[in-house]
Amino acid sequence: MTDSGFIHRNYLGGEWVAGPDQVADLNPSDTNDVVGHYTHADAAQARAAVAAAHAAFASWQYSPIQQRFEVLDQIGAELLARRDELGQLLSREEGKTRAEGIAEVARAGHVFKFFAGEAVRHGGELLPSTRPGVTVEVTREPVGPVCIITPWNFPIAIPSWKIAPALCYGNSVVFKPAELVPASAWALAEIIARTPLPKGVFNLVMGRGSVVGGELVNAPEIRAISFTGSAATGSTIAAAAVARRARIQLEMGGKNPLLILDDADLATAVNVAVNGAYFSTGQRCTASSRIIVTEGIHARFLAALTERVAALRVGHALAPDTEIGPVVDERQLAVDLDYIEIGRREGAKLQRGGRQLQRQHPGHYLEPALFTETTPGMRINQEEIFGPVASVIRVRNYEEALQVANDVPVGLSSGIVTGSLKYAADFRRRSQAGMVMVNVPTAGVDYHVPFGGRKESSYGPREQGRYAAEFYSSVKTSYIAP
Ligand code: NAD
Repeated sequence: MTDSGFIHRNYLGGEWVAGPDQVADLNPSDTNDVVGHYTHADAAQARAAVAAAHAAFASWQYSPIQQRFEVLDQIGAELLARRDELGQLLSREEGKTRAEGIAEVARAGHVFKFFAGEAVRHGGELLPSTRPGVTVEVTREPVGPVCIITPWNFPIAIPSWKIAPALCYGNSVVFKPAELVPASAWALAEIIARTPLPKGVFNLVMGRGSVVGGELVNAPEIRAISFTGSAATGSTIAAAAVARRARIQLEMGGKNPLLILDDADLATAVNVAVNGAYFSTGQRCTASSRIIVTEGIHARFLAALTERVAALRVGHALAPDTEIGPVVDERQLAVDLDYIEIGRREGAKLQRGGRQLQRQHPGHYLEPALFTETTPGMRINQEEIFGPVASVIRVRNYEEALQVANDVPVGLSSGIVTGSLKYAADFRRRSQAGMVMVNVPTAGVDYHVPFGGRKESSYGPREQGRYAAEFYSSVKTSYIAP
């Protein structure tokens, strides 16, 4: 299967514009399948996008809330109506299963619908002053042109949960998607481009992070940068943003723990562990890659988990019976295989999987890997791998499990499987993570509540739900005397 040769262009100032360069987007389930050709911008095009967003902001910041509602609602409705088609496209270019792709598009649709509602719902506060006869009004205003930089692993959901609140609160947008997933980004941009949004309010610039991303991050007109991706890139962006006092929001990696306590329901424990560690090929920042198991259930849990991992069906993302799609690209596959080797060298036991697989089509297939007999300090238990690789860490009791869970530099999500209200409550309180799950997988979150982590996982205000207003709007306090 090949594409038509059509070159998908960038969207700048309300026009579709070709960049100086182009790349082929390949399907990781079948590298002979070209998903499409996508233009790459240079620095000049990135600057043009910023200029367009800057010019459009002048009036968009005062746009009527009904107009914002209608634009966001239209985008949400189209995403929901086209979830099957766009979900398939997403799976074809990123490698998660078709069901996962469709669910992601639906989620993006719900995000836009939610922020359509927020556009008309959100307001300020009216307070009495400490001075007689004076009233205090607290309102929220747009921040300015916002730059949105996203990773490849949720190619529609993450852009949506940034773009929707940015537009909702009256900001203009320059969106820079990850190089590996231009098709999903372009499809979303094309939907946005058909709304009655004024020219320049939304801009898409595809291209290399170092070229396009760097230019956007350093543009003085960009007043806020929302970034999701690796810790290394996040640090570079943060330094540039802080130096010029731009607002910054970073969502980065995780090394998320899942605790399995002696009193856990075994079937729930195995389901939660397998889902959290391996679904979406383990390529989720919220994946539970450290499974911390107390000794009373360890043997039973390990036997059941190993059996389940061995039975996982790895294959083409669009094949109906596939449970685990391919790794996103050659580079990530090499990282995964490298960590599997590191784990072995560190003395962990490769209980199951870990081999590269051949399938009918040439793709980046990897058998889900399960390490056992690991210790908390091993690199495989400290560093984010971002693939279908998980470790079991055996501990004596809950207290030790909690200590191991928190003993990493990151803290995005965490989970516990237990029947005990006491342990569940204690874990919710003492877990050093931004999101805590009880008897549900560490990955898989709702669209209407805050998302984000602690420690080195996140920096800046939370994303999603009403909390998104913290980042995408600026508070003004007015004092009014008659
Ligand atoms: P990445 O850091 O390589 O790239 C992310 C984005 O940054 C891409 O669009 C890239 O082009 C851009 N970029 C690269 N260099 C840049 C620069 N110098 N200036 C500006 N932009 C630049 O990350 P990735 O490999 O695409 O994504 C995987 C990572 O994302 C993992 O670490 C994962 O944990 C993290 N992630 C975090 C969350 C979260 O919400 N915490 C969600 C998903 C993924």
